[in-house]
Amino acid sequence: TEACLGAIEGAGVLNAFVHNTPEIAMDQAKAADARIKAGDAPAMCGIPLGIKDLFCTKGVASQAASNILGGFKPEYESTVTTQLFDAGAVMLGKLNMDEFAMGSSNETSCYGDVINPWRRGNDEAKLTPGGSSGGSAAAVAADLCLGATGTDTGGSIRQPAAFAGITGIKPTYGRCSRWGIVAFASSLDQAGPMTKDVRDAAIMLEAMCGHDAKDSTSVDLAVPDFEAMLTGDVRGKTIGIPREYRMDGMPDEIEALWAEGRKMLEDAGAKIVDISLPHTKYALPAYYVIAPAEASSNLARYDGVRYGHRASLAQGDGITEMYEKTRAEGFGPEVQRRVMVGTYVLSAGFYDAYYNRARKVRTLIKKDFEDVFAQGVDAILTPATPSSAFELGMEMDDPVQMYLNDVFTVTVNLAGLPGIAVPAGMDKQGLPLGLQLIGRPWEEGDLLNTAYALE
Ligand code: GLN
Repeated sequence: TEACLGAIEGAGVLNAFVHNTPEIAMDQAKAADARIKAGDAPAMCGIPLGIKDLFCTKGVASQAASNILGGFKPEYESTVTTQLFDAGAVMLGKLNMDEFAMGSSNETSCYGDVINPWRRGNDEAKLTPGGSSGGSAAAVAADLCLGATGTDTGGSIRQPAAFAGITGIKPTYGRCSRWGIVAFASSLDQAGPMTKDVRDAAIMLEAMCGHDAKDSTSVDLAVPDFEAMLTGDVRGKTIGIPREYRMDGMPDEIEALWAEGRKMLEDAGAKIVDISLPHTKYALPAYYVIAPAEASSNLARYDGVRYGHRASLAQGDGITEMYEKTRAEGFGPEVQRRVMVGTYVLSAGFYDAYYNRARKVRTLIKKDFEDVFAQGVDAILTPATPSSAFELGMEMDDPVQMYLNDVFTVTVNLAGLPGIAVPAGMDKQGLPLGLQLIGRPWEEGDLLNTAYALE
């Protein structure tokens, strides 16, 4: 813990941590020492973690990287962080992210950009760590913490993990409680661990999972010992390669990486089959209707009354002006765009044409996966991202280009499936690239084991 706190002090330039909590960390570390001495040391005992700012942490600023939550210190602790701390984990501080987890580059944060610790050779250009869990990815990659919490609504664990050369898993929807995590798109949001490798991910995920009566979508299912399932044995497993993920203009390096991953699994004794997920091309448009629709509803609560920031008002301003001024000041441009898109697709005249249509597409995407799993496919191998980390500033003025970052990851959230990104090589510029494995629902243990075979 002391070493990590020192490393964080020295790495301010990355802007990964936005609130440091050294006193809490040292208290928790001492308590962990005592537990270890007493012979009661669970797997996470004394492990120093960074916590994404989207998680409510009791008495500690939790702003979802938004000005509208300025000054908000929750009275409660999220279920996932409670479980981690009960298992002995230590909180070093809160991690930067895209505002309300909306973004793919960590550039929508009220705290400013996070810098990826990776560089293109000797090039000084600053690269994005990806997003929205950009602070989590940078902090783990730069050894500022041993693991970090992330959340993933459309790829926010897996894309930054790929950009930073680390491992990140989004479990099946319902595995982790969403209670106490600031809501973005409730039917898609899931928490998960971001770590150095698959073994750490297995250990940390186990501590994060479990039923919670406070989240009606959390599942009441036993949590297996994920670490014990890491044998690396994938003999007899069937791995599907979806042809629709071979996109036009995909860089050769990504193609080559994908082929390499396929060969590694084949050499390890898995059977490789070509599969089709025919509705893949509708996933991104469906996601960018459903996610903003849910966001516009979830974000209605930030009204200047209940949480955080309230704009200063002029003489004669009424409650409408208070709402308008507070929300105009408090939300950044990307969040405002999502609220507007979401409000539009949910409005009476457009609900059927957009929102209901997107929900139907979502059902078809889910069915695509159910069909291939019914044919005996155990896991699906794809690239994690269509590129390596790009330069900060490159995609900020083109939201549609930015949304394309999620092309391989959003399907997994729409279908509620578990997905993992693992580091799988480098591009010509020396930047990390990741592969994604998508698993059957509730079979995170198997998925982690297949990923382990790729390490
Ligand atoms: N980049 C996607 C978005 O902006 C996904 C974000 C996420 O998974 N939280 O919506």
